[in-house]
Amino acid sequence: MSSAQQHARALLDYIDSSPSPWHAARTTSKILNNNGFCELLEADAWSIKTRGRYYVIRDDSSIIAFTIGDNLPKEGFRLIGAHTDSPGLRVKQKPDSQSGVFNRVGVEVYGGAILATFTDRDLSLAGRVHIKENGALSSKLVHFKKPFLRLPNLAIHMNPKVNTDGLKLNKQTELPLLLSIANEQLNEQKIPNLLAAELGINVGDISAWELHACDTQTGAIYGLNDEFYANSQLDNLASCHAGLSALISDSSLNSGQFNVCAFFDHEEIGSNSHKGADGSFLPDVLERIADSLNVFPEEYKRALSKSFMLSADMAHAYHPNFPNAYEPEHKVLVNQGPVIKVNVNIRYASNSASQARFIQLCEQADVPYQQYSHRSDIGCGSTIGPMTSAQLGINTVDVGCPMWAMHSIRESAGVLDHHYITRVFQQFYC
Ligand code: ZN
Repeated sequence: MSSAQQHARALLDYIDSSPSPWHAARTTSKILNNNGFCELLEADAWSIKTRGRYYVIRDDSSIIAFTIGDNLPKEGFRLIGAHTDSPGLRVKQKPDSQSGVFNRVGVEVYGGAILATFTDRDLSLAGRVHIKENGALSSKLVHFKKPFLRLPNLAIHMNPKVNTDGLKLNKQTELPLLLSIANEQLNEQKIPNLLAAELGINVGDISAWELHACDTQTGAIYGLNDEFYANSQLDNLASCHAGLSALISDSSLNSGQFNVCAFFDHEEIGSNSHKGADGSFLPDVLERIADSLNVFPEEYKRALSKSFMLSADMAHAYHPNFPNAYEPEHKVLVNQGPVIKVNVNIRYASNSASQARFIQLCEQADVPYQQYSHRSDIGCGSTIGPMTSAQLGINTVDVGCPMWAMHSIRESAGVLDHHYITRVFQQFYC
């Protein structure tokens, strides 16, 4: 196995351990712990030391990790931003519904999922559960490995236009997931009972939950020459993994720089929350780093002006079966290097100055790069880049690896690209 394939394998394992944004933050924290990082709690006073390594988690699913360098006003922060959440189906608060002889689970669509891809998959649940323990509230993560949920397709004989018109699903009536035959007691609460049994607690101790329908199929490397990989949540756990791998590399840890990885929940629904990229989490953490190092406010502003951010999120790889979906001069190809994303209306944060800096990093790392522009007659997506850049006044470039099927439950991308972008991130942090 080549080093690029080994790195892609490590990414797939990272994703398989992270079936929800809460698990993604926990998987990330475990890797940080194993690399000498210490957790700081927002409610505590911070005492941070030069050359120290730290991380902060807000509300279980957003995480910021950083190394402490020598001179903040002189060096500024080197930031890589990404997101821990992915579009999909979330379980409703009162999920159990009985329809004739079937028990079903009510779900709500989270973000812009390609709903048709959730049909005929071996689904399960992962998320966090809040419980009462001896009068106090606590949260636990839960991940069912057993595939007990399914959204069966309608046969083509009842939906004869499915191949010409596409699969259309009514979000209220046609998305509830099939759970079981209702041969037991009426009105029994299936989901709370499942959670209680999995966590080894009494069902009455469960207060609330957030549960994400996850795929039980694990990640795979595919292609005749093992050049591609597939999994759920590549958007955007692939970028988190690349940033994290660079942060814990020897060159980053020995750099004496203020290297920061900021991974946020809620990007797929607009980032406007207490732990989203449009909230106070990143400004709060950066200010507290400065305060803890006795950096004066004016020096902190100088540090921000010296700072730079790579907003890392996946890009749309050219799909040979749909040539007309792409801007003809900006077809970015899988395994041809990281993509710089540009949109003149600042749906992406990139500008010529920030692009030039990223191109220089690619050249220094001896990694190819590509430039992407969306078709002018189709609406363009966005990232955390524009909002964090605006909040902090830090120049930012939007970059990411090309991938297929963004927001499918089974996305895929190129093995070499993950290796390439990690090398550029390492170059940034050294
Ligand atoms: Zn994304």
